[in-house]
Amino acid sequence: MLGPVILAASRSDRLRRVVSAAPVTKPVVNRFIPGETVDQIVPIIVDATSRGLELTMDVVGEDITTPEQAAAARDAYLELIEHLKVLDLGTRAEMSVKLSMFGQSLPAPAATPGGGGSAPAFRSGHELALANVRPVVEAAAAIGTTVTLDAEDHTTLDSMFAIHEELRKDFPQTGCVIQAYLFRTEDDARRLAAAGSRVRLVKGAYKEPASVAYQEKAEIDKAYIRVLRVLMEGDGYPMVGSHDPRIVEIAQELARRAGRKPGDFEFQMLYGIRSEEHVRLAREGHRMRVYTAYGTDWYGYFMRRLAEKPANLLFFLRSVLTKN
Ligand SMILES: Cc1cc2nc3c(=O)[nH]c(=O)nc-3n(C[C@H](O)[C@H](O)[C@H](O)COP(=O)(O)OP(=O)(O)OC[C@H]3O[C@@H](n4cnc5c(N)ncnc54)[C@H](O)[C@@H]3O)c2cc1C
Repeated sequence: MLGPVILAASRSDRLRRVVSAAPVTKPVVNRFIPGETVDQIVPIIVDATSRGLELTMDVVGEDITTPEQAAAARDAYLELIEHLKVLDLGTRAEMSVKLSMFGQSLPAPAATPGGGGSAPAFRSGHELALANVRPVVEAAAAIGTTVTLDAEDHTTLDSMFAIHEELRKDFPQTGCVIQAYLFRTEDDARRLAAAGSRVRLVKGAYKEPASVAYQEKAEIDKAYIRVLRVLMEGDGYPMVGSHDPRIVEIAQELARRAGRKPGDFEFQMLYGIRSEEHVRLAREGHRMRVYTAYGTDWYGYFMRRLAEKPANLLFFLRSVLTKN
């Protein structure tokens, strides 16, 4: 019951300001977002990869309001990629990006009579996001790694899939995410499960209406397994994004039945969640990629982690109360 309330709060600017400024928030945030700057995150990357884990890096931020912020988001990824180049990790460290952070939801600037004005030229948020994400995908490819487009709320997905398709023309290894809770996803999976594609399947982290998404956990879990079967039986590269022990087990069985060996698919989990399981799966010979978020604009990401598990909220509230 708490999940939807926290997800609604994740869109509140007032709460964002209060929670982000409270000093007691920091230690709890650090569990999920282990750094704010590239310099803080590089040692985390080095440590994880030296332990046999792979990473997908998320510079946190979403729902930006100006084209300048979208350009800054692009530049933050380019700065990260410069640091990864020195580490020479190849696909062991890839990037995850949220297109909302690259300007996807921005309205086009109103046409100024006679043209001109200082606003950068773009005809739609979709076009701006594509223009901003392309150099990131190019830079990632230049250091031998890839980018995966995260899935945000359902209203953004047609644009995300169109950008994915466009990027794949030049960079076929560009990945995308699909969400099991959406009714549309089984069809998306069939379309995407083709040779050369990389698809991460997750349950879904946004507050979605009953008109487009399953609401009950049991139904979402069943849908996840149906969609995972499609991906495993297809020709693409499935990325199993879940901490659910049952799903981890079923994924191994579905892979075995589809004739896939470890390395023909991978597991992905979030930094700070079931960390001992990351190491266990890597030791068993699986590719295990840890989604690692860093940066200062962590509020939306943090609130979704609280919503997924009410115990996280209790932990957070307890730390607030005991510090006062
Ligand atoms: C690599 C990765 C990338 C993702 N990318 C996206 C994306 O692009 N779009 C999107 O909508 N969603 C994304 N998600 C989030 C996803 O949709 C789910 O909200 C999240 O993974 C929880 O679902 P679950 O499969 O782990 O199963 P659940 O049934 O929610 O959880 C199973 C078990 O995992 C543990 N667990 C799960 N979440 C937490 C938590 N927050 N804190 C502590 N323990 C927890 C608990 O032990 C829980 O019992 C991503 C998740 C992962 C792992």
